Amino acid sequence: MGVKIIDLLKDTDKTLFSFELLPPLKGQDIESIYETIDPLMEFKPPYINVTYHQEELVYRKVKENLLERKRIWKRPGTVALSAAIKYKYKVVVVPHIICGGFTREETENALIDLNFLGMNNVLAVRGDAPEDTKIFVPEEGGHKHAVDIVKQIMDLNKGIYLDEELIHKRPTDFSVGVAGYPEKHSESPNMDSDIHFLKKKVDAGADYIVTQMFFDNVKYFSFVDKCRKAGIKVPIIPGLKPISAYNHLQYLSKTFSIDIPDPLVREVIKCKDNNQVREVGVEWAVQQSRELIKAGVPVLHFYSMGKPDNIKKIAKQIF
Ligand code: FAD
Repeated sequence: MGVKIIDLLKDTDKTLFSFELLPPLKGQDIESIYETIDPLMEFKPPYINVTYHQEELVYRKVKENLLERKRIWKRPGTVALSAAIKYKYKVVVVPHIICGGFTREETENALIDLNFLGMNNVLAVRGDAPEDTKIFVPEEGGHKHAVDIVKQIMDLNKGIYLDEELIHKRPTDFSVGVAGYPEKHSESPNMDSDIHFLKKKVDAGADYIVTQMFFDNVKYFSFVDKCRKAGIKVPIIPGLKPISAYNHLQYLSKTFSIDIPDPLVREVIKCKDNNQVREVGVEWAVQQSRELIKAGVPVLHFYSMGKPDNIKKIAKQIF
């Protein structure tokens, strides 16, 4: 079995570099992912995350004035992709496991696959509410919240499978991370409530927290402070994303319910094209990274979104 993230975090005295990948869109091949990973391997990431995406509802025109509602799985392949990366690059991989679209049995099966493939780290997240309804509805027989996945994994770690009549049951040995929100989760009524439920995930057995992206370190420091006061003691890994296009000002803040600080907005608005925006985004992320490293964060975790160039420019200045 591979190294557990929590042990990596315990054993390091310097800030580590890691990043998150999205599986390719259906129809593309795995080379596009290798093209994202290759340029970043020189910075020796001890681990790489791979997201999971549930099916999406789309409307397809069947004939004039008639639309058909279809469920399309645009980015399948997380488990297989994670294994391919693990064995090609000899790196620890952290696949994400989500509630959305999964029954409990399917979650267990995915975990069994990961276990057989020698992967013992996962990030447990709920998955987003669909664009059209904005309300998250679990699969029938599936989990409603990330905490329920954490509990299911902790059961498996004790050898408790869903089928109680199994004999010769082997316990798994998963280390689990969960998501945290320095600017609170969009559906939370307030920060205290969000931290209350975050603590439930940690109390259920999560080893560490990875944050949503943020552009103002003060938000991260204040979040960590509130978590500590609430009794959350596990490592809190900051998630960073360099702005790389003008429309990110609206897209990122709307999609992830985060604020873009005014000085950054003003710098982006001054840019003549997206090349200049990318430079501003890299410079901002470098400043953020330097301050976070100084504060002793265990890892800088970058959201690559399939674009390694900016992350590489940042990593070159930082690691
Ligand atoms: P939860 O922990 O279930 O929380 C969701 C909301 O419910 C919060 O407002 C919380 O306060 C509240 N809550 C939690 N528990 C309870 C409870 N027991 N009772 C009542 N309320 C409760 N999405 C994907 O689809 N695939 C991915 O791979 C993916 N990876 C991500 C990685 C990171 C680091 C982050 C930060 C997010 C990721 N997401 C991913 C997005 C994530 O799925 C969404 O942000 C989702 O809306 C919430 O997920 P969660 O795990 O925080 O949910």
